[in-house]
Parts: sequence; C-alpha cells; structure tokens
Amino acid sequence: MKKSTRVNHPPRVQVPADNRPLVAPIYQSVKFTLDDTVETESLLRGERPGFFYSRVSNPTLRQLELLLAEMQGQEDCLLAASGVGAVAACLIALCKAGDHILAFVESYGPTRHIIHRILGRYGVTHTLLSIEDKAGIERVLAERPTRLVIFESPTNPVTKIADIQHLVAQTRQHGALSVMDNTFAGFHNHGGCGIDVHLHSLTKYASGHGDVMGGAILASRKLIQSMRQDVVTLGPTLDPHAAFLIQRGMRTYFLRYERQCANAGRIAAHLAQHANVARVFYPGLPGHPQHALAARQMSDFGTIVSFDLKGGVDHGTRFADALELFAISASLGSTESLVMPPRLLGSRDLNAEQRVQSAIGPGTVRLSIGIEDADDLIADLDEALKAAFI
Ligand SMILES: *Cc1c(COP(=O)(O)O)cnc(C)c1O
Repeated sequence: MKKSTRVNHPPRVQVPADNRPLVAPIYQSVKFTLDDTVETESLLRGERPGFFYSRVSNPTLRQLELLLAEMQGQEDCLLAASGVGAVAACLIALCKAGDHILAFVESYGPTRHIIHRILGRYGVTHTLLSIEDKAGIERVLAERPTRLVIFESPTNPVTKIADIQHLVAQTRQHGALSVMDNTFAGFHNHGGCGIDVHLHSLTKYASGHGDVMGGAILASRKLIQSMRQDVVTLGPTLDPHAAFLIQRGMRTYFLRYERQCANAGRIAAHLAQHANVARVFYPGLPGHPQHALAARQMSDFGTIVSFDLKGGVDHGTRFADALELFAISASLGSTESLVMPPRLLGSRDLNAEQRVQSAIGPGTVRLSIGIEDADDLIADLDEALKAAFI
C-alpha cells in the first residue's frame, strides 16, 4: 500500500468491549459503515440499530439527545446547530399552510421573525398577545382553530411569568400543541406540567461557557418521530465536537445554575433597595407581581435580573459603560456576568401598544448573572450606579 493510500485507510485501534472511556468519545465522522450491503440496507430500512450518515444520526449527538430528554422529563430529543435552528425546524415541522399560531409579545425576537416573516410567507397565520392576557388567550383559542401556542417563561428581559397550568389546559382543551421555549428556566424547570414540546438554546446554560452554539427540540417519542425526517432534511445539524462540548458543559450545569441563581437573588435584593433603582424585575423577589406563581412552578428563579434605573437611556448607557466585571453583550447562561443597557434592548418589530406590553422602559437594564463572587459583582454594580448619576 502506497502512503497516499495508507493515509486514507489508517490503522485502527480496537477498544475491547469491557474497556470503556469514562468520557464518551467524539464520533467526529460524517459516515459510518457496516461490513456488507445487506446489513447496510437493513440499517437504512430501520430494521437494525446503527449509524450511517451524521446529518441523520451520530453516536455523540444521540448521547446528548438522551441526556437532555431525561433532564427535561421528555421522551426524546432532536438536536440543532443553534437555538433558533431548533425553533425554526420545530415550527416548520409542526405547521402547514392555513395553520394558526398563538405567540406572545414577550418572546425572543428571532422567534417572532420566524413566525411572522418566514412562516407567514408560507400561509401560516398568527396572533400576538401579551403573556399576561389570559382572557385574550381564552378568546383566541375559542375563536380560531390553532395548531400551537408557543411561549416562554420567565420572559426576556423583564421576567414575566407565564401561568403554565392555565396555558396548557387551554391549549389541550382546544386541540392545540403547547410549545415552550424553556431556555431561560433551564432543563430542571417546567418538566411534568404537560407541555408538549420544550425548546432550548444549548448556547446558554447547557454549554455554559459561551464557546459553542446548539439547540434542542424535546417531546414525546411519537411527536419527535413525526418531526424527525423534516428536521433532519432541513439540515441544521449539530457538529459532533459541539455536541461533545455541550455534554461536557452539562456535567457542571446544576453547580453553575445554583451558583448563578444564588448570586442573582442577592443582587436583585441589593438593587431593590438602591436609591438609583426604580424597580427590579426578578421573580425571586417577594415584590415581583408573580412571585407566588413562579414559586409554584419553578424550583428556583433564574439568573436574569432586570431593573429600571431612575433616569433613562443616558443613565443606562453610563451605567453599563462604567461596569468593570459585566461585559456589554447579548446572551445569557455563561459563567461570566453580562449587561444589556436600554439602548440595546427592545424590538423594532413591535407597535406602540405591544412595546408597552413588552414593559421595556427607557431605563431598563438586563443583567445576566455569572458565577463570580457575589460581593465583587455587587461592589461593581454599586460603583457603576454611582457613576451613572454623576
Ligand atoms: C438565545 C435564545 C434563543 C436562540 O438561541 P441561539 O442558540 O442563539 O440561536 C432562543 N430562545 C431564547 C429564549 C433565547 O434566549
């Protein structure tokens, strides 16, 4: 064999069956092979287990799918290369022309874009309500045959809490599917409350280190099976190396989330009594209008703390610029703390009434709390709150 042939047919290391790596290896291979044509055909017909092509399935991805399904209390999972990849693929797989979607003003902007700008072009209609408008939800579901209701809780950025029991009951009663983007609350929250589909951006808490993107669709085996071919054929495949990193991130998921929540709780309480802060939005504060609801349906209160600065946009800009430990950046759920000042919050696609519903004011600041020392973070916030008003 010439070397140019050998480099393409390298020696293989056989690992004995009773000799396992403690960390699952990365199957960084697009293709998988069996010994003969008949076995391969049987695999492609789904008559035997195995892997063939990584866009369709890959052992590293499958292992992460099984882990995430268990974490979220769902039966099965489909991965995607980003959170929005999961949202888009899920909605495309579930909807057809003529279907109606109920969505909310307080939702992730790109999700509204997918529903309004993309699915809208293919004959899917939607209604946009406030997540607090229970009467509106009941009215729309009673009046219009609806394929699915897609919602978030806590919402971005002002942490409104969806009444999940009410939403799921209404959705069921009218034969629609409930789809929850559960990115903010994490995998350990909102399982076992009858939600049909959970969506997650794995870019956030799952990866946890801000260095890799991913998304997940989690649902019953039957529902995932019904979506699988569409999602796979749309092609938002997660790379095996990214899946490996996300799986590594998941090992410290609970430690990170607990520390971030503990920090967030202390910071929220501190901001709530600060003279330059008009109002704090954190569901863990007894003063949050939906604190009792959040306590009922969540085991903790999340890692996003938003607040209204006294003053307005310019104070928010000076505040963010004065922070040393909080980077001005989008996203959440990583180990480091981040800030989004008022100039960078809010959505251009909402009308005046919807903007009021979104509750983002001229002084609204969003903090994503990391795992740093809480005293250091509070000292940094205090310095910046002072600097914003000089
Ligand atoms: C970040 C985010 C997404 C999108 O995830 P990407 O991984 O950035 O594509 C979707 N929904 C929510 C609630 C998010 O916070």
